[in-house]
Amino acid sequence: MSVDTLFSRDTDPGQANGALDVLRSVFGYDAFRGQQADIINHVIAGNDALVLMPTGGGKSLCYQIPALVRTGVTIVVSPLIALMRDQVTALRQLGVRAAFLNSSLGAGEAREVERAMVNGDIDLVYVAPERLVTERFLDLLDRTELALFALDEAHCVSQWGHDFRPEYLQLSVLHERHPMVPRIALTATADAQTRAEIADKLNLTEARVFLSSFDRPNITYRVLPKKSERQQLLAFLRENHPEDAGIVYCMSRAKVEDVAQWLNSQGREALPYHAGLPAEVREANQDLFIKGEGITMVATVAFGMGIDKPNVRFVAHLDPPKSLEAYYQETGRGGRDGLPANAWMVYGMADVVQMRQMMEQSEAAETHRRVERSKLEALLGFCETATCRRQALLNYFGERMAEPCGNCDTCLEPVESWDGTVVAQKALSAAYRTGQRYGVGHLVDVLLGNATEKATQQRHDQLKTFGCGKELSKTEWSSVFRQLVAGGLLTVDMEGYGSLHLTDAGVAVLKGQRAVTLRKDPVVEKRRSVHDAMRRQVGRGGGRSGDGVSRGGARGTLSPADDVLWHALRACRLELARDQGVPPYVIFHDSTLLEMVEQKPLDRQTFARLPGVGSRKLDLYADSFLDVIHKHT
Ligand code: ADP
Ligand code: ZN
Repeated sequence: MSVDTLFSRDTDPGQANGALDVLRSVFGYDAFRGQQADIINHVIAGNDALVLMPTGGGKSLCYQIPALVRTGVTIVVSPLIALMRDQVTALRQLGVRAAFLNSSLGAGEAREVERAMVNGDIDLVYVAPERLVTERFLDLLDRTELALFALDEAHCVSQWGHDFRPEYLQLSVLHERHPMVPRIALTATADAQTRAEIADKLNLTEARVFLSSFDRPNITYRVLPKKSERQQLLAFLRENHPEDAGIVYCMSRAKVEDVAQWLNSQGREALPYHAGLPAEVREANQDLFIKGEGITMVATVAFGMGIDKPNVRFVAHLDPPKSLEAYYQETGRGGRDGLPANAWMVYGMADVVQMRQMMEQSEAAETHRRVERSKLEALLGFCETATCRRQALLNYFGERMAEPCGNCDTCLEPVESWDGTVVAQKALSAAYRTGQRYGVGHLVDVLLGNATEKATQQRHDQLKTFGCGKELSKTEWSSVFRQLVAGGLLTVDMEGYGSLHLTDAGVAVLKGQRAVTLRKDPVVEKRRSVHDAMRRQVGRGGGRSGDGVSRGGARGTLSPADDVLWHALRACRLELARDQGVPPYVIFHDSTLLEMVEQKPLDRQTFARLPGVGSRKLDLYADSFLDVIHKHT
């Protein structure tokens, strides 16, 4: 970017009066959402705030608007170069005077930014924490008129989280040196422990806390029994997301590579991402994902932090995440723009076994293991629940939700639960009577009375249990065993042979001291679209409330003519984005394009009223898009 355009002043948002004016003229939005107005007014008035809001909740505006309303420069501390770059690109598209300072910048460019700070020619400067705490930068701050400190991704201060950044611990220096400058810390971290740590470590215990609901109403949660994961995935993608971008999480690097390659062979544009790939490849793949449309990223958990692509329409898990915290965070990368998104996971017996084994083998101290164990139980409980998944998830984070959500698989296709005590006793007895030395496969054979070689050799065909379980099929028995392991009635041998042992709880069931409720796995995977979910969630405040249906993620059903228009608008956006080397969504979000399709504005005046069209974007892009709309109407 040239310095000249960097500080161009063709719109000067700082001139606008109130926060609402800025929201409308710069960002092109009509009204504040949730607690935004309160937070923004609080900060503009010069007070400190700790903002706990889920991904997609609209945190950025909470400091960007005060930055434009208050006099002086706002310093935004941000942990990742990619994040900074994206935010600055998006702001500059809006005509906001913003820049970043990090290691990716040449010395000359950095000096320009520094000069602009001292001269008050810039409104927002994003800076990496390690640079911020240097003497040189602190000295620069002393010479700058400061409006606000915004500490983004504030959970990086937590030593327990995996995003820990030691420099965040030093950020209290800002307040010590500039006690009159208000601070706003923001995070999407949902657990209470980390939140308390943030307030404490950042010296924000006096700040007003703005806690939003952590519900992500536009995300549809689904967990299915794993059968053939690839085919299940492909069917899910073809049915729901033929053209959408999304993420597929796998546990291992090898699997990431395999699945990515296989998806490509199936005609789906997919890229791998894991920590074992060379840095250039990772960066290139991430860039393609962000700047392209409709790419599937197959990744380990190494991918995701700092991706703020708003139109990730699905997050699929082929292996379960480590914990519910991880699940919430990973699935939370979908649907940042508020349009419907799918969180989809397949999960099976082998996963339960593996997770339990990993935990048992963990070399962590006993107290730590106890925490790990309860986290695993919570995750398994979530997977096996027969009631609303969203309620279970929010409940885990201490948030009560009065009614089932209507937008998860168990709400949409209620699973039957049944009294599985007798069946559980049969399964447990099969394990017990065969000496607790066998895995699921053989135990199911025993229950079904299959006279296999192993059964006859071991004389298991003589047992009372042999053939006592013919009322269930092989698949159903597998489901029962999975649930018994998940529910902690059976444990799996650590040596890797997968033999099943009864726990005390299992023994209690066998003795008839305890009842067992089981869920019936869905027999057929019902085909459903994201849009059905959208329809059901209207009135819950999330997502878009259009009508129409079916394929194609966020856009629902469009008439054939509108579908053509939608694609033409997308192509126009992609071309504009490529010309400037920026991601398409910084030109306009999908939601703005969808409004164009719906409203078909034919002149600048109506175009200006679209959400997401501020004065600068009107100038830059109205003509191009109006042209496309004219051609198609
Ligand atoms: P977060 O940082 O909390 O994940 P963002 O700041 O990226 O969320 O905002 C999420 C999305 O919501 C963005 O697409 C943003 O443009 C949009 N958004 C935020 N506030 C509003 C608002 N008041 N009206 C309309 N859209 C908004
Ligand atoms: Zn639900």
